[in-house]
Amino acid sequence: MADFFDTSIEFIKGVGPQRAKLLGEELSIFSYNDLLQHYPFRYEDRTRFYKIAELNDTLPAVQFEVSLVNLQTVGNGRRTRLVATAKDETGRIELVWFKGVSWMAKKLQPGVKYLVFGKPTKYGSKLNIAHPEIEIVTTGNSLEGKLRPVYSTTEKLKAKYIDSKTISKFVAALIQPALQHIHDPLPQEIAHRLKLMPKAEAIYHIHFPQNTQTLEKARFRLKFEELFYVQIQLLSLKSGRARKFKGKIYDSTELLTKFYNRHLPFELTGAQKRVIKEIYRDMKSGVQMNRLLQGDVGSGKTIVAFICMLVAIGGGSQAAMMAPTEILAEQHYEGLRPFAKAMGLQIAKLTGSTKASERKKLYLALETGVLNILVGTHALLEEKVKFNELGLAIVDEQHRFGVAQRSKLWSKNVDVFPHVLVMTATPIPRTLAMTLYGDLDVSIIDELPAGRKPIKTVHHYDSHRLKVNGFIKKQIEEGRQVYIVYPLIEESEKTDMKDLTDGYESIRRAFPEYHVSILHGRMKSEDKAFEMERFVKGETHIMVATTVIEVGVNVPNASVMVIENAERFGLAQLHQLRGRVGRGSDQSYCILMTDVKLSADARTRISTMVKTNNGFEIADTDLKLRGPGDLMGTQQSGVLDLKLADLAKDGAILKLARDTASQLISEDSELIRPEHHALKAHLQKVKQAKVNWSAIS
Ligand code: ADP
Ligand code: MG
Repeated sequence: MADFFDTSIEFIKGVGPQRAKLLGEELSIFSYNDLLQHYPFRYEDRTRFYKIAELNDTLPAVQFEVSLVNLQTVGNGRRTRLVATAKDETGRIELVWFKGVSWMAKKLQPGVKYLVFGKPTKYGSKLNIAHPEIEIVTTGNSLEGKLRPVYSTTEKLKAKYIDSKTISKFVAALIQPALQHIHDPLPQEIAHRLKLMPKAEAIYHIHFPQNTQTLEKARFRLKFEELFYVQIQLLSLKSGRARKFKGKIYDSTELLTKFYNRHLPFELTGAQKRVIKEIYRDMKSGVQMNRLLQGDVGSGKTIVAFICMLVAIGGGSQAAMMAPTEILAEQHYEGLRPFAKAMGLQIAKLTGSTKASERKKLYLALETGVLNILVGTHALLEEKVKFNELGLAIVDEQHRFGVAQRSKLWSKNVDVFPHVLVMTATPIPRTLAMTLYGDLDVSIIDELPAGRKPIKTVHHYDSHRLKVNGFIKKQIEEGRQVYIVYPLIEESEKTDMKDLTDGYESIRRAFPEYHVSILHGRMKSEDKAFEMERFVKGETHIMVATTVIEVGVNVPNASVMVIENAERFGLAQLHQLRGRVGRGSDQSYCILMTDVKLSADARTRISTMVKTNNGFEIADTDLKLRGPGDLMGTQQSGVLDLKLADLAKDGAILKLARDTASQLISEDSELIRPEHHALKAHLQKVKQAKVNWSAIS
């Protein structure tokens, strides 16, 4: 059935085939629906009419009614301009045009009443307005009082006279017939309970608001709807999976108890105990687990991961842990190995640089079930890697795995999918987690092991380097180790590499009595491993590195993190880097070095770091500074394809949408009740148009 809203915009009065083509190319507006969803990005306040005497240069663009008393073309050549003197009963002001002078001069007539809209600016001692919008006063525009929508457009469109006003005219031509075709897909009960503006009304008022109140109601309704659909889809995916995907039941706590009683090196924090219980409950439920484990750097996720592995291994299966980089895989492997050894379990590592001869042995041990735990990079996903039975797949995410890769781990088992635990160290603001990982259950470790001293963070300008070096020296004398990190951004890789090697040389010169390591991504993996090991063993005192050490590296004796050109790092990255220290019982320090010149955003980032150690607070600020799409990288941005809602600002609406969706799904998970048919049909439509949701997680 052809849908009214799929009609090409070509058929709207005033559009036609050529402009339709251009709108499609420039703004991806093809159908009626696209045009109606091309929401204004701001509104000009036309609710108030000013008098000339009230104007001053601090005002934004404002409107007032005038008559023109004088029109004069002055200057010549390129400096020709048209100056019109406008007056009302309170005073006079000059309106000036530098472009289209002769055309305007012909169009404007003295004595006629005009409606003028523009921003007053000071020119010498007088106010004037350059290039105001001006139109003859009619009953239509006089004293009507409105918020006027402003639509995004492009230079190419403007060149063809399709500006914001033209788009508004197109919308105006479409809106009346469209309103009759709009059916509200939201269940009546919900709309009623939440006092949402009906859909048709909301579409009307977002394009043609009467006042700020109706505009706000319209925006609220449409934002809610947008977020509600995302949540419904994520939650029904989750509930569908729970019904469809059985999970093997792991209910033996034998190994876990043994480890707990004999080998646990420290008392677990309350938060660690809680999340282990949550995970265990999932693993014995008979339904496949899909859980996100969030925990700030240093919160102790590794041991949690190991204990959960014991549950799978105790049930006769294997466990895998996948990390985004070789260094991190190595760290996980080294972290897990002593525990595995204590328990008499076989553990191995598989990365891109594992030798062929080793691989062969490893594949065999894996397939026969001799190997209990496999740690590695995405090399784990290769076809040849076959488990005897994979019971638990742990993905240490760091936002680097695409959703497609995450799901690939599943296909390792033929009949039953393994339980999946996604770990992330960068705290994600709740709003974002609800959207990006909305189909996963969430466990949070929100407590650091006891006895940790909060890291002291300070900011120094480059000119204080001597003082900083003196401090580093004192720390090394006390037996500590130091990281010095340089940015290495792909686009400026050459100069960054030079900064790093120059830095390395000057550190060696400044500290001739100490051993200095260097580590960067361009090095061969065996060289990296060698340098890392020297540092871990305490053979080198200072580690000069790029962000390759950002994730997972764990050297408790390192107590100072110096970050060079800190202004070039994002907040999440700074926090990750800082997390490399503060892992032992000594007081740790993070020193942010910057140039004196800092952008406003950089200043906020630095001061946020100095102010707080709390990962969630940092994540929130980061979200506000950067916006969600950027924060998560482009691979997941499909999920965040929101037209109106802003995850950084609309947390409350998101929460409402989430709760409402959750209730609906729990009552009617497949939306079969008649009152939910419209919603179901609508969702199917958006789903086809947008994201392939089943590919997520
Ligand atoms: P992350 O969550 O960043 O991966 P790790 O698992 O690497 O953190 O743990 C950081 C450090 O804290 C490790 O040295 C680990 O042995 C230690 N640790 C973890 N849990 C506890 C605890 N409950 N008490 C004391 N130390 C702990
Ligand atoms: Mg870790």
